Amino acid sequence: MRVLLAEDEPQLCAQIKRLLVAEGRVVDVVNDGVEAHFMGSTEPYDMIILDIGLPERDGISVLRDWRKEGIATPVLILTARDGWSERVDGLDAGADDYMTKPFHMPELAARVRAMLRRQSGHVKPVFELGNVHFDTRNGRVTTDGIPVDLTAQEIAVLTYLFHNTGRMISRTELSEHIYEYDGDRDSNTIAVFITRLRKKLGPDLITTVRGRGYMIDAAA
Ligand code: CA
Repeated sequence: MRVLLAEDEPQLCAQIKRLLVAEGRVVDVVNDGVEAHFMGSTEPYDMIILDIGLPERDGISVLRDWRKEGIATPVLILTARDGWSERVDGLDAGADDYMTKPFHMPELAARVRAMLRRQSGHVKPVFELGNVHFDTRNGRVTTDGIPVDLTAQEIAVLTYLFHNTGRMISRTELSEHIYEYDGDRDSNTIAVFITRLRKKLGPDLITTVRGRGYMIDAAA
């Protein structure tokens, strides 16, 4: 799942990015409101973390414009401790959730998981299909209870397919959600990741829709 992080405090940015990357997310970072607006309008993010106090343009006006443009990506806003009116404005402008600074990183991670889950209509933090068990809270994957070692990119592919269970995903769409903005996007390598996932998790988990893409049929 690909996340846009718009935040101008370098240390906080680095901390949040580290946290999300450790959970197998792909994160693009921008540091001002103009860039935030541009990236959020042009790239297909699964969710956006938006600081309200950004240079160049404030977060609320960026968010209002996205919603006006019909961009429905879930947005979590970051506000100052005493910023209750910012939170009201932010929620009314179309934010889905908020965090008040300073916050504990595990809480942010849990809110991100919950937002991504809600968006995909999945209610539990765990995906199960056949003998495959995938816990999104720690990125742990097991088959028949035995841990399976997956690379960050394999986890990213698996996460996106599980969150979109029952929907056919083209290679292009998949590559848009597992690589960073300036990442080396090659949709041919997707086939390699799928082959490796099948080798590690069994041949039946991911279905190939010939010439079109991949899907996970049904997950509990
Ligand atoms: Ca700020």
